[in-house]
Parts: sequence; C-alpha cells; structure tokens
Amino acid sequence: MIYGTRLTQAREFCLLTQKALADDVGISQGTLSNAERDKSELPMHVLTQLATITGFPIDFFQQGPQVTFEGLPTHFRARAGMSMKEAGQAKRGGEIVAEAALAMLSQLEGPPLRLQPHPIGTAPQAAAAAAREALGLGPRDPALGLPVLLEHVGFQVIALPLPNTRRDAFSLWINDHPILALLDTDAGDRQLWSTAHELGHTLLHRDAGASNTLEQEADEFAMHLLMPLEAMNKEMPTHPTIQDFALLKRRWGVSIAALIRTAHRIGRIDDHRYTSLFKQMAARGERLRERAAIAPTKPRGFRAMAETLHGPHPAQGLARAANWTPAFAEDVLSRHATGAELPSRRITNVISLSSRRARRA
Ligand SMILES: [Zn+2]
Repeated sequence: MIYGTRLTQAREFCLLTQKALADDVGISQGTLSNAERDKSELPMHVLTQLATITGFPIDFFQQGPQVTFEGLPTHFRARAGMSMKEAGQAKRGGEIVAEAALAMLSQLEGPPLRLQPHPIGTAPQAAAAAAREALGLGPRDPALGLPVLLEHVGFQVIALPLPNTRRDAFSLWINDHPILALLDTDAGDRQLWSTAHELGHTLLHRDAGASNTLEQEADEFAMHLLMPLEAMNKEMPTHPTIQDFALLKRRWGVSIAALIRTAHRIGRIDDHRYTSLFKQMAARGERLRERAAIAPTKPRGFRAMAETLHGPHPAQGLARAANWTPAFAEDVLSRHATGAELPSRRITNVISLSSRRARRA
C-alpha cells in the first residue's frame, strides 16, 4: 500500500497540479485525488509511472511520512510574486528534507539546544542581544556564517535544492527542534538577513500565526542581531557614501540597503540624504543587484550527519535510508558544506556528532 500524503508531497514538490499529474499517468483527477486522501489504491503500473515522473522511488510512497508541516505555524510569508504553487513546493521540499534530517538526528547526538524561545511580547532588541551572546558573538563581531553558527547551538538548518527569488527561508518548530529551511540564493547578504529574520520568528513567535506585526518584529530582531547599534555608532562614518556602505557590507555581511536604513535610524543621515542614497542606487540598477556581492553560506549539519552515518560519500546510504533516488540525495547534500567548505576558521567543524550506538559500545 502507499500513503496518500506521499503522493501530495511528491506532486507538489514537482509543481504539478492533480489534473496535470493524473493526465500524465492516464488516470482521472478524481482517482488521483482519492489516492491522495487514502480513499483508494492505485495499480502498480500507475505507481511506477508516478515514481518515474516525480523522481521519487516507489519505496518513498510506501513509507508513511514522519514529518508534516500541516497544522504547524510555519513562518513562511509568500511574498507578492511567489505563487501558491511555489510556496507549496518549498513547504513540501522542507517536509521531505526535514524528515531525513530528524531521522538522522534520532540516531546521533547533536549539540544541545542553547537558544530557547522567549515569551510572546519580548522586545526584539533584548532577544537579539541574548542570541548574540549565546552564539558567542562579541559586541563588534559580525554574524557571518549565521546558518552554521545556529547549527552549533542545536538548530537544524536545512538547505533545499529550490531556487527562489521571492522568499529565501522559512522556519518552524517540530516537537522541540527548531527547523530553519534555506532556499537557494546567490546573494549572501539576502541569505544572512533571511536567516536572522527566521531566527527572530523562531525565538519570538514560537506558537504565533502570521501577522504584519510579527514580520516587523522579525525584521527588528534581524537588524539588532546583524548590526548591533552600538557597533554601528562606532563604525558608521559621519557622512557615509555608497562606497562606505559597500565597505561596511563586506565586513558585516548585510546589504547596503539595510545599512542605509540603519544609518538613518541612528541619525547618521537625514531624511533627505536617505532618499538621495536610494535614488543613487536605483539609478545604477543597484536596488536589484548591489555592488560588493557576498557568497552565501552552506549549512553543514545535514551533510555532517549523513557522513557520520554513511561514510565520506553518503549519497547512496542517505538515498537508501530516506527512500530517495541517489540523484536527489546528491542534490540535497550538495547544498550542504563539506568540512573543507566551511566558511571560516572561526567556524569549526563542530557539529560534533557521535553515533549513539558507537558511544554505547
Ligand atoms: Zn517573516
């Protein structure tokens, strides 16, 4: 037998409607819909076709899902321009990869969770200061490599093989595990901001649904986490130019746009200068593509767990364990850093995972 939820996961991950997938395998939409709701079985030859089209092996459909985001508050704001389909694809991809991550974690001993959620109403600035301390960041330290820093304090950070220009990350709690999912981007400053924003949701809004206030709070948290005002006061020149902002961007890893907003906030530039800086950027096409590009950070934990359990080339073993194809396993693994790819020497190959079984032996 197969699990209907698996069909939905695979179909939505492939951006297919029920009608399109049903047509492709020569069944009616009603038949597929019934199968997705566990109301009818599909013959093996149809299942074989479904597996081929979606790229998930038959085993995947025969094993019930251990992780579903249904009914959980997921901080996933579909921005204007991101279709429901794309949002669904990211969510399903998140379920599939998070399931594999938690399954591996259950066999290992990862770092303990050292960042706990705050009660609703906690000020974002206070939460950001506490988070910086827990992450081991001094008052003048940029939060570069944040995805990996978070893994060190017990977060599950997963990178999904899905490009998206509208939304870069989302987060949720599964039982007592904070999960942060990163989508593909080539802009490290955007990735850093999204990661900090989602961390804000994770710590401030554990059980809250979506609302505009929460979005503002998450951005406020991100600003204080990534650009502590005290440090900005010290480092921001008196009459900052775009070139000054570009230098600060390289050091702090945040966008020029975010730095301009912070300069305005601490009174280093007035309203007029603020508007003129953004006009300058727009005139040079830098609102869309800023100068001083920064490479994104790959998280490490997922790959580190797979290597611990399956050896230095873990794609085959991971594919077998997760009921994925080796190609999909390789695709997901490639979004996560090898030990050699870790961003800086300061960030060590911590995710010191040891097999529980090995430890007992
Ligand atoms: Zn948000």
